[in-house]
Amino acid sequence: MTDFKLITDAQWRERLSAEEYRVLRQAGTEAPHVGEYTDTTTEGVYSCKACGTELFRSTEKFESHCGWPSFFSPKDTDTVIERDDYSLGMKRTEVLCASCGSHLGHVFAGEGYNTPTDLRYCINSISLSLEEKPVE
Ligand SMILES: [Zn+2]
Repeated sequence: MTDFKLITDAQWRERLSAEEYRVLRQAGTEAPHVGEYTDTTTEGVYSCKACGTELFRSTEKFESHCGWPSFFSPKDTDTVIERDDYSLGMKRTEVLCASCGSHLGHVFAGEGYNTPTDLRYCINSISLSLEEKPVE
């Protein structure tokens, strides 16, 4: 099995497209409302584009109208890492893939969305790959 934590920067550049690399490995953000999965309601599981680990499910995806795919919870709590991010002069919480350390997006709390957690995992479409399949 590949240990994705050992992949070098040069290897990531080969494995990913330029835009995928910018978002996943350089914590970039794709433009709002243009991502492949922003409004997707297809039943299935979203995996990390970089390493294939299953991260989010359609059952936790909701309409946030923020311009990016939004989930109120990850598939499992240990599949993502959350850490403080002070870029852009404010405190946000960055969300990363626990398996490969790639940047996924940010999570915001207490915005008043009518979801079970009142969390919004705001995730770049380009960081994800959707596999259509039944979700329990
Ligand atoms: Zn990953």
